[in-house]
Amino acid sequence: DEVTQTLPDMIEASIARYGPGVALEFFGATTTYRDLGEQIDRAAEGLRRLGVMPGDRVALVLPNCPQHVVAFYAVLRLGAIVVEHNPLYTPRELRHQFEDHQARFAIAWDKVYDTLDGFPSDLTLERIVSVDITDAMPLGTRIALRLPIAKARDARAQLTSTPKARKVLTWQKLVGGRRLSARHPRPTLDDIALLQYTSGTTGAPKGAILTHRNLRANAMQGRAWVPGLSEGEETFYAVLPLFHAYGMTLCLTFAMSLGARLVLFPKYDAKLVADAAAKSPPTFLPAVPPIYDQLARAAERGNIDLKSVRFAISGAMSLPVETVERWESATGGLLVEGYGMTETSPVALGNPIGPSRRPGTVGVPFPSTEIRVVDPVDWHVDRPLGESGELLIRGPQVFQGYWRRPTETAASLLPGGWVRTGDIVTVSPDGFVTVVDRLKEIIITGGFNVAPTEVEETLHGHPDIVEAAVVALPRKGGEEVVAAVVLREGTELNADVLRDYCRTHLAGYKVPRKFFAVEELPRSLIGKVLRREVREQLLRDAE
Ligand code: ATP
Ligand code: MG
Repeated sequence: DEVTQTLPDMIEASIARYGPGVALEFFGATTTYRDLGEQIDRAAEGLRRLGVMPGDRVALVLPNCPQHVVAFYAVLRLGAIVVEHNPLYTPRELRHQFEDHQARFAIAWDKVYDTLDGFPSDLTLERIVSVDITDAMPLGTRIALRLPIAKARDARAQLTSTPKARKVLTWQKLVGGRRLSARHPRPTLDDIALLQYTSGTTGAPKGAILTHRNLRANAMQGRAWVPGLSEGEETFYAVLPLFHAYGMTLCLTFAMSLGARLVLFPKYDAKLVADAAAKSPPTFLPAVPPIYDQLARAAERGNIDLKSVRFAISGAMSLPVETVERWESATGGLLVEGYGMTETSPVALGNPIGPSRRPGTVGVPFPSTEIRVVDPVDWHVDRPLGESGELLIRGPQVFQGYWRRPTETAASLLPGGWVRTGDIVTVSPDGFVTVVDRLKEIIITGGFNVAPTEVEETLHGHPDIVEAAVVALPRKGGEEVVAAVVLREGTELNADVLRDYCRTHLAGYKVPRKFFAVEELPRSLIGKVLRREVREQLLRDAE
């Protein structure tokens, strides 16, 4: 299918088509598509008056809230570029991102306003719109979010220069005026819509450049993937952060193109989800394995009813088969795994949504998406079918490069439009892809390759272990496999027992040489285990 609409064209079509239908729900307060359209137009006019021009970057530093959706589409309507941020990043992390994209404008949660305002004067940021998310809640709603917000004091403490005088405006003021003129110039399909930062699992986050065409293409591919959607009837739950590629596409563009009701959660919390589900039962729940696992356990205990969910689509990290079984027996619905990366807008592969899906695999390429499995050292060399290698992807959803990073761009965006995924995969004879591990995290020990995921999955099968992370530590003449394990309450670490257990399931060279008991594993905001940090922690402890 040909992409013909930019994101503003798409949202305007939904507004025209679903006008009185509910677009957003936030702690029970609802916004119709028509009202959403009006707010987008007012916010766009407010931003235009602030000085936002086509091609300007506008930083959004917001949790999931109605203002986030409005801001996203208002910025895009002006032909400007949305740059999403994790509002829980520390001042230092936020500052690195602002140094990278050099936005002059930010729309920020009032809780992080001080951090941004405290940025040193050599940063380009000039104007901040401050958002109080409680403005969008029904009167009297009180939520204890208990988010670990880095204190502004820390931000200021890090600064050597004096902050510059920045102009601040409240969101209320921004949207309080007139609507943008319909004649205001519109972006085109090949204009940049988003700088979407990668998760930073393997290094510093990189800003992936995504165009309107990229994002629309992915929403249309998603439409072809998911059978039996009812336009104007679905209820999507935004429990994933909208600032991450996965939540952004599924909830901000895909759901809105369907005229769905989008129920927004500023933070994933099983209790909040249960409360909302009692009133607006979800039909579409995109999430990550730890969330499905927790919600399925809650459903088993009768604390939440999830029978309404027809589409549960997992991504971002590997989905354990036990989680699939637990979810499906607790809810009666299917849990299906897909695969993607920020650089592919983000979804590139998916299991068929139906009985032919295959747990343990990430499915088959999306429509108009091609894949290759190549030698990670020389991508010109394709691997024979069935053998593992690095996954390359080509399709209309592939990004345009990393913002201001020509070296990294050249290394991952190959001639011919292929993107290197950095993931090692195998493909079955009938085309189903299995992710083995990240290339960067494969451990080479004594000349053998060890995929940490395989060892972790083995350890997860042991009754004493809640979760495990397998990494390499240096040892004389090379590296050795070690495991950090979180033990079930009341159990003690017995390395010999765990080693014997692994020996019965794994070849000798894969068995961890050492085990370390830890309280918890470091995770990214979307829930990925950060092996890089586990390794650093173990190295520090060893000193
Ligand atoms: P960075 O690129 O900054 O190191 P990241 O790769 O984690 O971080 P994302 O773009 O959010 O940033 O994630 C894409 C990666 O997530 C993929 O390359 C892959 O390693 C992993 N991934 C996504 N879906 C799956 C899946 N279903 N199974 C296993 N891994 C997955
Ligand atoms: Mg990546």
